[in-house]
Amino acid sequence: MSEAILEIENLTVDFDGFRALNQLTFSMEPGELRVIIGPNGAGKTTFLDVITGKTQPTTGQVHFKGRNTRRLAEHQIARLGIGRKFQTPRVYLNLTPRENLELSCNTNKNVLSTLFSRPPGSDRQRLNHLLEITGLFLKGDIQAALLSHGEKQRLEIGMLVAQSPDLLLVDEPVAGLTDEETEQTGNLLLSLAESHSIIVIEHDMEFVRQIARKVTVLHQGSVLCEGSIEAVQNDPRVIEVYLGE
Ligand code: ADP
Repeated sequence: MSEAILEIENLTVDFDGFRALNQLTFSMEPGELRVIIGPNGAGKTTFLDVITGKTQPTTGQVHFKGRNTRRLAEHQIARLGIGRKFQTPRVYLNLTPRENLELSCNTNKNVLSTLFSRPPGSDRQRLNHLLEITGLFLKGDIQAALLSHGEKQRLEIGMLVAQSPDLLLVDEPVAGLTDEETEQTGNLLLSLAESHSIIVIEHDMEFVRQIARKVTVLHQGSVLCEGSIEAVQNDPRVIEVYLGE
């Protein structure tokens, strides 16, 4: 078995006496696409916040690619190769999708030098590839403000990928999307899963069925169970938790 890309042991997070994560243990192999589900308040967002260094654990360890991230700042953890997609798209609306992607490829350059210099051939190829996989090739040169909500979501996922992370964290990528856009986002994540490790937090069970190979169910800050979507859906503990919502 290969070494885990993400290994979390006995993670506890207390907020002013409230225990948001409780002795949570989690492990993920490189190249996995893992979906995290769980009722509201289960601790899903806090879990991602600890992985990215936004929230410090009260106790417990997070190892990413074998490295303990405990004393690292958020930007240092990002640089190790973790990219996070929040629910609301954060794209530059006045720029084109191509320019948004180019800026993400060149996070160390400033905006003006990126926009006023022609990218070298290999970068152009990469940009075209990113536009293709996000389904935005034909809209690569229009203003991003004109994109639909689903297209902006896919663009932002493309912008994350442009930074070459090893692990992508994606928070509710299909909230508010049409069925067609949901399927397109699912296809994008499935194709990215061929070369990245991905954690997706999701409520939409139809979507979870489309993309999930392995599901982790969180409840009251701990892992309630893990397994295939079928196994998890038929687990009496999961049914009880969701009925109680
Ligand atoms: P989920 O994403 O599964 O809905 P969260 O991780 O957002 O759950 O929250 C888990 C619990 O921790 C919730 O009860 C929430 O109210 C609480 N919580 C989250 N962040 C804070 C905070 N900064 N201060 C106090 N309580 C918090």
